[in-house]
Amino acid sequence: MGLISAKQYRESLNDGRVVYYKGEKVDNVATHPDLKVCVDLMALDYELAEDPGYKDLAVVHDAELDEPVSRYYYKPQNAEDLLKAHELIVKATELGDGYIPLAHDIGADALNAISIAAHMTGNQDYINRIEAYRKKLKREDTATCAAVTDVKGNRMLKPSDPDQKHKDFNVRIVDQNEKGIIVRGAKIHITGAAYCNEIFVLPCHAMTEADKDYAVAFAIPVNTKGLRQVCRPFKAHYSPLEFPNTRPVRVHTDSFIIFDDVLVPWDRVFLCGEWKFTGPMVYNFALLHRRTGCSYRVPLSEQLVGGAVAIAEYNGIAKAPHVKEKLTDLLIYLETLKSLAKTACYDYEMRGDIAVPNTISTNMAKYHFAHNYHDVVKTIQDLAGGLLVTAPTYKDYSNPDLKDDIEKYLTANKEISTENRLRMFDLVRRITTADLEVICLHGEGSPIAERMTIFMEGGKVLKRCKQIVEEMAQIQ
Ligand SMILES: Cc1cc2nc3c(=O)[nH]c(=O)nc-3n(C[C@H](O)[C@H](O)[C@H](O)COP(=O)(O)OP(=O)(O)OC[C@H]3O[C@@H](n4cnc5c(N)ncnc54)[C@H](O)[C@@H]3O)c2cc1C
Repeated sequence: MGLISAKQYRESLNDGRVVYYKGEKVDNVATHPDLKVCVDLMALDYELAEDPGYKDLAVVHDAELDEPVSRYYYKPQNAEDLLKAHELIVKATELGDGYIPLAHDIGADALNAISIAAHMTGNQDYINRIEAYRKKLKREDTATCAAVTDVKGNRMLKPSDPDQKHKDFNVRIVDQNEKGIIVRGAKIHITGAAYCNEIFVLPCHAMTEADKDYAVAFAIPVNTKGLRQVCRPFKAHYSPLEFPNTRPVRVHTDSFIIFDDVLVPWDRVFLCGEWKFTGPMVYNFALLHRRTGCSYRVPLSEQLVGGAVAIAEYNGIAKAPHVKEKLTDLLIYLETLKSLAKTACYDYEMRGDIAVPNTISTNMAKYHFAHNYHDVVKTIQDLAGGLLVTAPTYKDYSNPDLKDDIEKYLTANKEISTENRLRMFDLVRRITTADLEVICLHGEGSPIAERMTIFMEGGKVLKRCKQIVEEMAQIQ
């Protein structure tokens, strides 16, 4: 089969999965008034693959299956493959108005990280299972997500530490039999889990021998018995107080997933107690996932820069020297991100038979956009002025008693209509919400995780720099 249509994807979601939203059990995520908005966003990945204009980017001919498959499930072999995947995510996110559709991307990051770790274990069963699973994903064009972040309990304690309030803060193996393993625990913040087909489950950090029951990786269908999800609430519709907009609202939700003694068949188990390989698995997932993050951040950052340029012009301040300085800072923010994201692809390395982006540039890109994000938002809020929060609403503007006064007093640049200025305030409020600030900071790992990786990987660079000055100082 190889590729499925957006319609087939939507139909596949009505499978008895257990999903809760705002305290209520959802009958069908694809028709639920709010969750449908997220489903439409994810469906963009399938629409893109159907579009002749993007087929070259989204689809690859698979030599083994001799059929077209999603680029995401194809193993990247070189810089060109990594750059194409980057371009694909950028394009898909542009179509999603700044939201990455996510039908395959994070799942592919998990798939490749598991594959690299399986080869490192040298265990042929694991290698065969993950490659058979890859084939299935390619054939069925399955929508996948990755459940990595455990609820964790006390962060300073190991999962099995007796001081943890209970043993189930990290997903763990509680039993096994001839059919498979039984797992219990909970994952949190899992994006797209409510409206994908299968969930990859990986440990969220490197385990020690004492925590070998937590050294578990697998993939299961979303409708597996014992699996329940609670979605976070989100704004699925434009407010009637905003100016009318016919573009679809784009948004994702993230799930709290409970694994209530779930049976995972052996052919879907990719790690089962081999604690030494949790480190490489998590490390590779973080690398690949951060690369995905850098790619989808490009269109989002372009929106932020665009919002700043537009609001400065609409307020009539674009030519002021301090404004030009601020816009220069924003340009540096955007272009640094774009350069690092591409450099990471050019400077790739092979891990087994998979090309991975450069670790230092990838982590620098993720750290750069997250660390500076709040400053970028601050600049936009500065340039926008207080009207960003105090402007009259569309309802006020539509009231004939008020319209003329709003038109008269709330204009700034005479070239720009008051309506357009107010519309831009609506948009800037949407693209700078607190939800986006949190995902920018913590999505793909909290900032300290990137700094630790940069320091660890940068060891060789530091050593070489020290050697240079020691040679100059003629230190033996
Ligand atoms: C909107 C959103 C979507 C996400 N999507 C996904 C997804 O699809 N899949 C997925 O698996 N995850 C996802 N994540 C999770 C994301 O990777 C985590 O939020 C991130 O790793 C931080 O973990 P946490 O939220 O549990 O925060 P915490 O780990 O509680 O971090 C809070 C603070 O504690 C610090 N801290 C944590 N542990 C320690 C320690 N041992 N010692 C000292 N300091 C510590 C951190 O540095 C941070 O400053 C998503 C997150 C968000 C916000």
